[in-house]
Amino acid sequence: MMKQKVFVDMDGVLANFGKKVTEIMSDPTIPIYFKKHPDEIDGVFRDLEPLQEAFESVVKLHKSNKYDLFIATTAPWKNPSSFSDKRIWIKKHFGDIFEKKMFITHRKDLLLGHYLIDDRLANGAKDFKGQLIHFGWNYESKTWNDYKDWKSVLNELL
Ligand SMILES: [Mg+2]
Repeated sequence: MMKQKVFVDMDGVLANFGKKVTEIMSDPTIPIYFKKHPDEIDGVFRDLEPLQEAFESVVKLHKSNKYDLFIATTAPWKNPSSFSDKRIWIKKHFGDIFEKKMFITHRKDLLLGHYLIDDRLANGAKDFKGQLIHFGWNYESKTWNDYKDWKSVLNELL
């Protein structure tokens, strides 16, 4: 059977960027500009904590042999080191699962596949041609998205 392609976002899905932002907001040494644009801080993506159950869940999807897994992440254009930081982070926390299977893009709508697991609708996610698995916590509306956590994603896909 042909494996279905699953694209997995990083921030808010695999990596706990929200926790990092909370730390930045409470740090008096960080300038206002970077509090408004935390994704432009050099190195901010380098040492994020993995999100709860992300690793175990990705391994389960991988081992199911039903899915071909890819990263689909947007690296902030004004923060060039974030491109390599994200590549290094993926290897450190997910080993070889995503080796040479990483799309860094602002146009997730151009990716061809069955599923996109993403916590936001930005950068083309809302126009993804397959099924959007709208994941996790929505910081803008302060509500849970349709798939609150990795357990609900596995319920859908396994
Ligand atoms: Mg995200």
